[in-house]
Amino acid sequence: MSIENKTDENMTGENSTEKNSRKGGISVETDHIFPIIKKWLYSDKDIFLREIVSNAADAITKMKRLCSLGEAEADGEGYKIIVRVDKAARTLTVEDNGVGMTEDELTRYICQIALSGALEFIEKYEGKSAEGAAGSGIIGHFGLGFYSAFMVSEKVEIITKSYTGAPALHWVCSDNGSYEISDSYRESRGTSVIMHITDEEAAYLEVSKVREVLDKYCSFMPYDIYLETGEDEDKKSEKKPINTTSPLWLKRPSECTEQEYNDFYHKVFNDFRDPLFSIHINADYPLNFKGILYFPRLRTEFDSLEGKIKLYYNQVFVADNVKEVVPEYLFMLRGVIDCPELPLNVSRSYLQNNVYVNKVSTHIVKKICDKLNSLCKNNRDEYEKIWGDIRVFVEFASVSDRKFFDRVKDSLLLGLTDKTFMTINEYREAAVKGDGKDAKEKAEVTVYYTSDPAQQSQYISMFTAQGYKVAVLDHLIDTQFITAAERVYEKLKFVRVDADVSALASGADEKDKENKEIVGLFRKAAGNDKLNVRFVSLKDNRAPALLNLPEDQRRMDDFMKQYSFVTKTEAGRSVADATLIVNTSSPVYERLLGLLSTDEKKAEFLAGYIYKLSLMAHRRLDGEELYSFLSDSYDLICGI
Ligand code: ADP
Ligand code: MG
Repeated sequence: MSIENKTDENMTGENSTEKNSRKGGISVETDHIFPIIKKWLYSDKDIFLREIVSNAADAITKMKRLCSLGEAEADGEGYKIIVRVDKAARTLTVEDNGVGMTEDELTRYICQIALSGALEFIEKYEGKSAEGAAGSGIIGHFGLGFYSAFMVSEKVEIITKSYTGAPALHWVCSDNGSYEISDSYRESRGTSVIMHITDEEAAYLEVSKVREVLDKYCSFMPYDIYLETGEDEDKKSEKKPINTTSPLWLKRPSECTEQEYNDFYHKVFNDFRDPLFSIHINADYPLNFKGILYFPRLRTEFDSLEGKIKLYYNQVFVADNVKEVVPEYLFMLRGVIDCPELPLNVSRSYLQNNVYVNKVSTHIVKKICDKLNSLCKNNRDEYEKIWGDIRVFVEFASVSDRKFFDRVKDSLLLGLTDKTFMTINEYREAAVKGDGKDAKEKAEVTVYYTSDPAQQSQYISMFTAQGYKVAVLDHLIDTQFITAAERVYEKLKFVRVDADVSALASGADEKDKENKEIVGLFRKAAGNDKLNVRFVSLKDNRAPALLNLPEDQRRMDDFMKQYSFVTKTEAGRSVADATLIVNTSSPVYERLLGLLSTDEKKAEFLAGYIYKLSLMAHRRLDGEELYSFLSDSYDLICGI
């Protein structure tokens, strides 16, 4: 006999109003379909073991269900699944003590491709349609999984005995699809699937390989799974199952401890460090999925690439990093998601267009935002401690998804140069305080920030001396982040400390103090006869001059640099566009004025020196600039 193919009357012949129409069902030749299944059903061969073990688990779930319904009697034996590697016989066997199969079931479910006994069981005993099968805990769905055994086997045998007491059966099928059923002997209820592994797939006869596949797919399956290898370790009296039958995500969040979350994380992700925080998701109807997400502690930025979300289906591992379930911008998260609404063998394109998957994804994002908000609100100290580690990712997520940004906008912290933190809203409130009654609504608030606290220390100290808080935004993502933030927060502007000194001035520009000769000297010093020079009286009279590069222009430059539209030398252009702010409140300014009429040479030297100082406070000097500054300084100290 050979494997039959299930055909469906409804599949074809829809248009029966046409005359002479003939109805029929598409039929498939086993000879043709078998090679297709072997090659194309699953891209990853490892999953055959997942499928066969899942069937064993389903058989046990059915048995338990029948017992609880009073349709079968439990025999007191513990439910278990044994995976046996027999290198000598070149077989891999999966054995269970589940429901077993009668001859009728064997021919019906095993000998007909795409007829799922799992589905029929759910419909019969759970009174649900396939779509509502999620609550049953049954893994099977499509009636295809069993055939994946042929991806690695030249022959598959089944020895099974049904709980009904029907005689045991032996089924043998070769990889061309022809099978034979005969009576057999088997002492106890259950099924053994014996796979005769082909020479090409001999790797599946290696214990280490089998263990690896079981660890990956079956670590959290609901019944004990034992690996028997025929090696010494089998003889140990108390053999342990390879899996955990009740993973932490199934427990109620209120019953889990921090320690349990951490232990689970260590185990699943092989990371000895504790995560920064965890999020336990327990979504009821209609989403009906569970999971635990972790924000890992990262050593370096590159570590982040290891983030991993493991997707499970009724405790069976399905895939890693399914971006349809967790958006790509949350790539650094680790965790497990168990989604019983998703069938086990689904394709990526199915996931993409699945409304349910989108809802799950949205829910996960919402939960992450909720967690951040609750940490910020209820556990501010802790939140500030981890902010340094999570900030880049939170900002990246905010930049990537406007909804995410809107959700967390009250919990985005600014790390200030004085090592304290403020939310953006707190910064805003502090800035408008005392500015009159309805200043809050009117005022556009400026967040002063530094992208390099060491290089920009001169500017920072001038701002902090005037009571301004300066935020440290020193990561690449910040260029995009501040632009996005200006769109999200109304009347908020980010200005780098070296972009505009207006806030530090005593008043408007001192037009009357503009001096053509001084401008000329500075232009000469800068080697730029178009250099903008402004005369401003700064509240701080120490710095004789400062360079300012307007925020918008510099952001554009940063952007060009990030996307490498400009070469390195072109990027240095920025200083050429800067404005030199001459501080008229500095005593050096008066000195320079005086020298103009008395000693032209000294005036030129002084203007050159002031310019170099302003350049140093602005950016790193290049070799020539540094040499020239040092030699000027040597001349100066000789005169002391
Ligand atoms: P699915 O699991 O999606 O229903 P499979 O091709 O994996 O499809 O299996 C087909 C059917 O064969 C199952 O639904 C079940 O009825 C039967 N079957 C497979 N393995 C076993 C087993 N170990 N014990 C009892 N029945 C089994
Ligand atoms: Mg199955």
